[in-house]
Amino acid sequence: MMVRIFKKENIDKALMLRLGAAFVLLICGIAIPLTNTVKLCIFIAGWLIAGYEVVIAAVAGLFRGGLLNESFLMSIASVGAFVTGNGAEGLAVILFYQIGEFFSDMAVDSSRDSISELMDLRPDSAHMLKDGEAVTLHPQHIPVGSEIVIYPGERIPMDGCVCLGASDVDTSSMTGEAQPIAVEPGDEVLCGYVNGAGTLRVTVEKEYGMSAAARILELVTDIADKKAPSERFITSFARIYTPIVVGCAALLAILPPLLFGGLWSTWVYRALTFLVISCPCALVISVPLGFFAGIGKCARQGILIKGGNVLERLAKADTVVFDKTGTLTSGHFSISGIYATDGVSAESLLSLAAQAEQLSTHPLAQSLRAACPDVPCHAPESFCEQPGKGVMLSSTSIIAAGNAKLMLELGVLVPTTAATSVHVALDGRYMGHIEFSDTIRAEAAACMRALRQRGTARLFMLTGDSEQSAEQVADALELTGYSSRLSPVDKVIELEKLKSSSNTLLYVGDGTNDAPVLAASDVGFAMGLGGTDSAIEAADVVLLGDDPYSVVRALDASRRTLSIVWQNIVVALSIKAVILVLGALGFASMWLAVFADVGVALLAVLNSLRALK
Ligand code: ADP
Ligand code: MG
Repeated sequence: MMVRIFKKENIDKALMLRLGAAFVLLICGIAIPLTNTVKLCIFIAGWLIAGYEVVIAAVAGLFRGGLLNESFLMSIASVGAFVTGNGAEGLAVILFYQIGEFFSDMAVDSSRDSISELMDLRPDSAHMLKDGEAVTLHPQHIPVGSEIVIYPGERIPMDGCVCLGASDVDTSSMTGEAQPIAVEPGDEVLCGYVNGAGTLRVTVEKEYGMSAAARILELVTDIADKKAPSERFITSFARIYTPIVVGCAALLAILPPLLFGGLWSTWVYRALTFLVISCPCALVISVPLGFFAGIGKCARQGILIKGGNVLERLAKADTVVFDKTGTLTSGHFSISGIYATDGVSAESLLSLAAQAEQLSTHPLAQSLRAACPDVPCHAPESFCEQPGKGVMLSSTSIIAAGNAKLMLELGVLVPTTAATSVHVALDGRYMGHIEFSDTIRAEAAACMRALRQRGTARLFMLTGDSEQSAEQVADALELTGYSSRLSPVDKVIELEKLKSSSNTLLYVGDGTNDAPVLAASDVGFAMGLGGTDSAIEAADVVLLGDDPYSVVRALDASRRTLSIVWQNIVVALSIKAVILVLGALGFASMWLAVFADVGVALLAVLNSLRALK
């Protein structure tokens, strides 16, 4: 989707007319031969039309914090020009400053709008089935548990589960994933996906306001509050800089005439020129806009970055730590072997495991349930899931399903296994184990290669899985190192160790059992919307899709944004420095100063918008 820099609805028409009128007055005043008094009246009229709010803002700024802001600089420069008899310049200063502000405000508004528009993927109508008939309602009024119909080509209005029909859904606007995915009864669909050629019936599972899309929108709208250090630098820079500039201008106006007998009119004019040139508007506008554009670019690729501060840290990454299951591997386990103990059939072992896992969301549990769809599901008496170990469920008897660690705690002896395994015990008696294989994601190897090429060469993996499965993945991806058999708490300890030897550490996890590590890392990536709310909350970056390569895209976007921001800072300050010196020496007129100021601000804004591309 193209982001238009200037959108019609963001044009402030009244302001545009005022600026147009003032411009015509300026030209008339300069070009038409009139008496000086008439000219002065024309310039004053233009000044009032174009710039009264600049003066108001300047005075308000003074009262609010005694802060000398850009409006203040511009106001004294322009009033000063009038007082010294340079009416045309006085009007030009305010007029061109306003024109610069007009364009940059429009750029900021438009990019902000396009990002929120882009992220508001929620349709505002849905067809609910009522007594066999479809009635169209706002999805806000449709309760959880209702059935809705989605016709071909429609955007899915609420999160839910397909109960009838089959189709392909396009998830690209949510996840950036280009290939449509096939869905059939039993599959989850999210609000924001676009239905393909089939008609679907979906049982609503979440209220409209609780959907994944609503959560994304919330994240995106929060972004603006978190400022990057460079942004804060500009604000505090302006706070110190502006008074210094005003002080220098005052000295420039007063000292030469007093000490060396210079002409007052010449030196006051030079001082006013100096004020115009030194206005920091180029930076005040373009730096936040640059960060915003960088975040917007990522958002369009399904990468939600929670603020400019994250983007800035991300650019300095030198170490990346990955979770294994669901992050580097697909998380879709297939059963590779069933090893029941003597006297137990393979079917009953599988059925016990599936029964124990009926309430878990772990990828292993999902694949066990898929392998045994018609297992009896009685409401259990109690259920407990131990992160990184497994589950325990008691109904008529107690079933435990999990790894060797869990069995060790229960005092059940288990054989050592090479593959990822779920061991099953019934009332403390060992029933056997089920082995699983998981495939490494196709994009994982490319991701590692790309990270190494970018100088982010320290690549680690932390997993709760067995040593053998971990080693296999680490070898295949040529990782720098790995640790296995970790509980969620062990993961934090290992992460802290790695953190002490690195500058900036990224952690990438799928959101299952990794909220603590996500919070402990410098930048935490939660992958996929399948993760828990706490993980999405703790993460600094949320990847809507589940492609690990998004980490590389985020890294590239952050580095590009930072280089654009620094280009603006360096170029704007150098141009200003040169013209400042020229102005002080009397080689730059106020006209040159006005155009340099507006020109640099617009250039900086346009440069910032490159971060969106
Ligand atoms: P990773 O760190 O690789 O993402 P997890 O922390 O999700 O892995 O889980 C680590 C290990 O804990 C799994 O390999 C599995 O042995 C065990 N485990 C966790 N949850 C369950 C469960 N619901 N059922 C069975 N085993 C589980
Ligand atoms: Mg995991």
